[in-house]
Amino acid sequence: MAASGDSVLVVGGGQAAAQLVVSLRLGGHEGRITLVGDEDEPPYQRPPLSKQYLAGELGRERLLLRKAAYYESRDVELRLGRRVLSIDRAGHCAVLDGGEQLGYDRLVLATGSILRRLDVPGADLPGIHYLRSLADADRLQEELGAGRRVVVVGGGYIGLEVAATAAKAGADVAVLEAEERVMSRVLSAPLAEWLTDLHRQSGVHVRVGEQVRGFTGQERVEAVETGNGPLPADAVLVGIGVLPAADLARECGLGENDGILTDEYCRTEDESVLAAGDCARTINTALGAAVRLESVQNAVDHGQVAASVILGDPRPYSSIPWFWSDQFHVKLQIAGLARPEDETVLRGDPSAGAFAAFRLREGRLTAVEAVSSPRDFMMGKKLIAARAAPDPARLMDESVALTDLIQSRHGIPTLHGPDP
Ligand SMILES: Cc1cc2nc3c(=O)[nH]c(=O)nc-3n(C[C@H](O)[C@H](O)[C@H](O)COP(=O)(O)OP(=O)(O)OC[C@H]3O[C@@H](n4cnc5c(N)ncnc54)[C@H](O)[C@@H]3O)c2cc1C
Repeated sequence: MAASGDSVLVVGGGQAAAQLVVSLRLGGHEGRITLVGDEDEPPYQRPPLSKQYLAGELGRERLLLRKAAYYESRDVELRLGRRVLSIDRAGHCAVLDGGEQLGYDRLVLATGSILRRLDVPGADLPGIHYLRSLADADRLQEELGAGRRVVVVGGGYIGLEVAATAAKAGADVAVLEAEERVMSRVLSAPLAEWLTDLHRQSGVHVRVGEQVRGFTGQERVEAVETGNGPLPADAVLVGIGVLPAADLARECGLGENDGILTDEYCRTEDESVLAAGDCARTINTALGAAVRLESVQNAVDHGQVAASVILGDPRPYSSIPWFWSDQFHVKLQIAGLARPEDETVLRGDPSAGAFAAFRLREGRLTAVEAVSSPRDFMMGKKLIAARAAPDPARLMDESVALTDLIQSRHGIPTLHGPDP
C-alpha cells in the first residue's frame, strides 16, 4: 500500500483537520481525502469567537482557514453538516448519519472537544449560552449590548475573554468563579490577581469562590442563584471547560484516558488510525510526557505530525506548547506547562502593564506567562526548550539579558538543548 495513494478519511472539520489536509496536499499526497464535519462551515478558526468576531470587529468570511474553493481545487471532498456515528476498524469504514459508509486506508480522528455543561436547576432556560461554535457565537452576540446584564459562569480563558468583549460593548458584566482565583489551572497567582484587577478596573464584577446553584426565570433566565443570593441576569455565558470528544474512539475500542491515546506520531494503537488536536493525548518528546492540550498551536502541530506519518516521513510531536489570550488591550502569552505548585519569579513591573511571570520546578524553567511582553515570551520559550535552570535573582533582574540565562544556578551551562 503506497503511502501517497492511501485514501484518508478525516473525522472532524476544525483546526487540526484543516492543517492535516493542507499539509497532505502540500506534501504531495495523491490519494483520496474526505473530510466529514458536523458543522455547516468549512474549517474555521475558533479564537475570534470570544474576541474580535464576538465584538463585531471581524467578518464571518475572515474566520475560514481556507475558502471552500481551496478544497475543491485540491480535490479534498468536504462532507459538511454530516456526522460520523461509528467506526468499524476491522472493516476499515466509518458510518455516517443516514447510514452511508465511507471506507478508508487511514482514518484521522480530529473531533476536538465537547463542552462541559452545568447540571443545576434551570440550566435549560433560554438566555443561557455556551461557546464552542460559530453558531454559538452568533446567538451570544445578539445578547451583548449596552446596559445588558451579562453573567459569566467560569473565570477561565473563554469566560474572561467574553467578559472583556461584553464589557467593551457596554454590558454590565459579572464573572462568577468557583475557585479562589480566576484561571487557577493555568496561571500563577500573581498573574491571576493582576488579570482580576484589570477586569475590575474595566468595570467587570469578578466574584471568586462563588458556586452557581441554579438559574431562575419565567420565559428565560432572569437570575443566577449563588451562595450569596440571586444575581439578576439578562444573559448568561457558561464557560466551565471542555472534555475531549473521544466517544467514537472509545466505542471502537481504542485506548482513551482523558483523550485518545497516541504515541509521538499521533498514532493510536491501530496503525490505520491517528488522532489529532484537542481530542488526542499525545506524547510530546520535548516535554517527555503525554499531554492533551486545547490550543490552536497544538492542533496545527498535530495536523502536521499526522500528515508526516501518512506521507511516509514521520516527524515526532516535539514543540514547546504555547497559548495566547486577548482581554481588553492586553495580550497574554504563555509558553510551557506549569503546575500550580511551581515557583513564580516576576520580571518587570506589573503596575506598568508589561511584565512576565517565570515558573520554575526544581530549578528548571517550566513556563513563562507574559503580559504584553512578547520579548519575554519569545525568550522564555527558547529557555524552556533549552531546559534552562536560570538563577531566579538574575531572572528577575531586567538588566540581565534573558539570553545570558541559559545556565544552571551554579553557572554551569546545561547541555540538554540547543544554543538559542
Ligand atoms: C471561543 C474559543 C476561543 C478560543 N481561543 C483560543 C485562543 O485564543 N488560543 C488558542 O490557542 N486556542 C483557543 N481556542 C481553542 C482552539 O480553538 C482549539 O484548541 C482548536 O480549535 C482545536 O482544534 P481541533 O481541530 O482539535 O478541534 P475543533 O476545532 O473543535 O474541531 C473539531 C470539529 O469536529 C467536529 N466533530 C466532532 N465529532 C464529530 C463527528 N463524529 N463527526 C463529524 N464531525 C465531528 C466538531 O463539531 C468540530 O467542528 C479557543 C476555542 C474556543 C471555542
